[in-house]
Amino acid sequence: MEKPLFLAEKPSPNLTPRRRSFRSVAYQKTMVFDFSKTFKTYDAKTYKKEDFTGTRCPRCYAAGRFKLHGSYRRHAAYWHMSKITCEFIEIKRIKCLSCKTTHAVMPGDLIPYKLLSLFIVLFILGLFYLEGEPVLKIAEAGGFSFQFIYSALYAYRKHASGISQYFREASAGDVPPTLDDAGIVSLIREPFLEFQSGYIELNKRPCFMCKFFNSAKAPPIGRLAPIPPPVGSNITLE
Ligand SMILES: [Zn+2]
Repeated sequence: MEKPLFLAEKPSPNLTPRRRSFRSVAYQKTMVFDFSKTFKTYDAKTYKKEDFTGTRCPRCYAAGRFKLHGSYRRHAAYWHMSKITCEFIEIKRIKCLSCKTTHAVMPGDLIPYKLLSLFIVLFILGLFYLEGEPVLKIAEAGGFSFQFIYSALYAYRKHASGISQYFREASAGDVPPTLDDAGIVSLIREPFLEFQSGYIELNKRPCFMCKFFNSAKAPPIGRLAPIPPPVGSNITLE
């Protein structure tokens, strides 16, 4: 007699382990931003363990419990010789000794999961919203495809209301209740690293990062601790 189908068909043994490994990967990809560095001034080789003494783990909040943990390469679009170019950058990694999570140490102007750097997004937004240039002309001026220009505009549109909200909260009342796109872009640009740093603090995610936009699974984001006050100062770090 033939076995009933549900006994003959064993569930795939791969299903459970695959799901578990996906979850662990998601947990390990977290980030610490160093807002004293940009794509151009960042050098993964210069980081020392002591640089993270006052930094909190974005996953478990333990302070200063890091060891250096190699590096990886990624590429990012930046401005070079009057054109948008893709360049490689070596990104430092650190590992939290308390929760064993690995964190990428990102320069302040890189956008996680995006080729676009913050500088290039603002370059494109400035031409489009402040100068009124059409997409094809911006693509021609920057030496890149028009799809690339649209991806920057798309990232902006997704975050526009969050950006307005940030400026209303950060400005103590001197920003008008409704901002048009030109007004928003002007505010972001001066100075843009300060904007990104503040946006992360308020929203717990970097501006213009589209991945995980509608999901609660966005990776925790941390920041490198500020430079300690001079010896003899009354101000102490927590
Ligand atoms: Zn940790």
